[in-house]
Amino acid sequence: MRLALPHDGAMRDLSDHALLSLNTATVRKQGDLLAIVEACARHGIRAVSPWRDQVAQVGLGRAVRAVKDAGLKLSGYCRGGMFPADAAHAREARDDNRRAVDEAAALGAPCLVLVVGGLPQFSRPGSAPSKDLSTAHAMVEDGIGALLEYARGAGMPLAIEPLHPMYAADRACVNTLAHALDLCDRLDPDRGGALGVALDVYHVWWDPLLHAQIERAGRERMLAYHVCDWLVPTRDLLLDRGMMGDGVVDLRRIRAAVEGVGFDGFVEVEIFSKDWWARPMDEVLATVVERFRTVV
Ligand code: ZN
Repeated sequence: MRLALPHDGAMRDLSDHALLSLNTATVRKQGDLLAIVEACARHGIRAVSPWRDQVAQVGLGRAVRAVKDAGLKLSGYCRGGMFPADAAHAREARDDNRRAVDEAAALGAPCLVLVVGGLPQFSRPGSAPSKDLSTAHAMVEDGIGALLEYARGAGMPLAIEPLHPMYAADRACVNTLAHALDLCDRLDPDRGGALGVALDVYHVWWDPLLHAQIERAGRERMLAYHVCDWLVPTRDLLLDRGMMGDGVVDLRRIRAAVEGVGFDGFVEVEIFSKDWWARPMDEVLATVVERFRTVV
């Protein structure tokens, strides 16, 4: 059975890249956050999604001013999560995530992206080693549930980002959109917008249930949409994401589904790549803009 999808005509027009957001990790090796913000102005990019370490490097106050002075919007803030921890590191995990919520609010982000963590020794280094993935799943659910109360108080939506299964041990043991939505339904049954998902094509393009789960997410749960491409072969588990159009992801079909449920936020370009990090910032951003307009 082929799922019904909206016609191309229902999709948004990306030809002037007004809806482009740059995940600032895409050019993290070429300059600090202030340099990236300046580069966005040169390329007519109107939104960013910064990483916590990049914000910390220049200081939260300077980051807030730079974003505001440049008139940039945010499409998210990266990232909270890494919930599984042993008892000695539980408080660290809790406090660190609360700070992430506060920073996201200071920057004016529409959501805090959650990379939920895997086994405790990887998500909170120093934790006692474990192979108990079921307990890690439970820690993730408990951690999101506890943070959700704090985040509601700050008015900051949380976006669970399911990661490709190759990251289950070290980065995220939530690996499908279905699993992320199960968590959302249990922790936030009223679908009020406090908890949802960040859908990144790199992590979910392979999933046979993807389109059905996008329908299930609906507009209320779809808080962020990230694009890049899947290269064949992929030579590095973390740092070989492709530029849009260089790989095998059916970007237009996935965007049609996401916009088909009413998603109207920025389309965020997020590429971690040794190849693209080795090129000048302006070359990377010019390529991002050109591909965004033509293949996303
Ligand atoms: Zn992402």
